[in-house]
Amino acid sequence: MEGVTIEDAISISCETPLTRKSEIVSLDDAIDRILAIDIHSKVNDPRFDNSSMDGWAVRSEDCQNLGNKLIIIGTNQTGNYKSNSVKSGEACRIMTGAPMPEGADAIVIIEDTVIDGNLVTINGPARREYIRKCGENISKGQKTLLAGTLLSSSRISLSATIGYNELEVICKPKIAIISNGDELIEPGQKLLDGQIYESNSFGLAALVKKIGCEPVRLGIVHDTMEGLRNSLNFASKNCDAILTSGGVSMGEWDLVRKIMQEEGDIKFWKIKMRPGGPPLFGKWGNIPLFGLPGNPVSSHVVFTMVVFPWISSSLGYHEDQGPRLADKVSVISESHIKGAPGKVCLRRIQINNKNGVLYANTKTHQGSGNINSMVVHNGLSLLPPDKDAKPGEKIEALWIR
Ligand code: AMP
Ligand code: MG
Repeated sequence: MEGVTIEDAISISCETPLTRKSEIVSLDDAIDRILAIDIHSKVNDPRFDNSSMDGWAVRSEDCQNLGNKLIIIGTNQTGNYKSNSVKSGEACRIMTGAPMPEGADAIVIIEDTVIDGNLVTINGPARREYIRKCGENISKGQKTLLAGTLLSSSRISLSATIGYNELEVICKPKIAIISNGDELIEPGQKLLDGQIYESNSFGLAALVKKIGCEPVRLGIVHDTMEGLRNSLNFASKNCDAILTSGGVSMGEWDLVRKIMQEEGDIKFWKIKMRPGGPPLFGKWGNIPLFGLPGNPVSSHVVFTMVVFPWISSSLGYHEDQGPRLADKVSVISESHIKGAPGKVCLRRIQINNKNGVLYANTKTHQGSGNINSMVVHNGLSLLPPDKDAKPGEKIEALWIR
């Protein structure tokens, strides 16, 4: 199919998904991994009614009047459960996190009391809200973290809280990244006439890493069918999917398109978006392949708009809790933002929050070869085909994370 919408590009590519596998990792290795299954709590959190303050466990009826004296009956410490029981006229010393003694229904903080022998004088309020109730955060058996969740530090901490020392996470698929073009040379090398530094594979590898996959940069392939074929064959033997950049347009030297037409299986070619019009998707052997445009902004934007949703859907990432590259927001355009005929237009925009309202303007030259335009801006417009944004108009946009 030639010239598809962004939505069609996603749905066509999702018919050829990445294979999803899972593995077990310890909590120490879980940061930024993605949970493969829903997990249920093995315990109540809190496990038992306990005090959120250092103080005295009392019966609130005994503390109506400030200055009352209560008999000290003992101490409830953390980890050392004593079945103290507080009767009328009594108080039990209690530490933060220690279980509430029977009979007590409130806590007086230590700062509000004075000890005199075996008596404690209550000079402040007895508060029920200083008792953390059994299961008030999470109850035993509750579905606590959902499949497809990106494991952040707090989610790892929560996993431990509910009894897990290891988690089943999605295996990182290996994504081969191949850069195509005779003009390309590795950064750091001496430039000869006509050469430019290869940059796409580094940006794409960073994107791949950021969303829970393993990039395998296979370097630069020059414009020969044989070189490209060898690289694609190597990638399909050793990786789970292939991203190429460059060589997908109409030119005679656009060999990724040519080799995919002649020897691969193209599912779509060209997307109605600007930048990023010329990509293709298909299979090389049994492996899914995205042929991304060579222009650095285009390859970044197509990754964000199409490759990421494909990976996210293949691997079952959770829509809210899973990895994300950008957030969809409404912004008020401060300048005239030009759309594109027949294509969704993703201009680089700067989104600024002014008193809770998001505004957007464009700062620099917008050429698709200018990767600096992605650096000095923090968002992309989502202008529908044939639509400009006038100053003051509300438009949809992506706020890039
Ligand atoms: P192409 O899609 O091969 O026609 O390339 C379009 C533009 O992107 C050309 O200006 C190329 O020099 C440039 N380009 C292609 N691949 C890369 C790359 N890996 N890194 C930086 N620029 C590239
Ligand atoms: Mg080229």
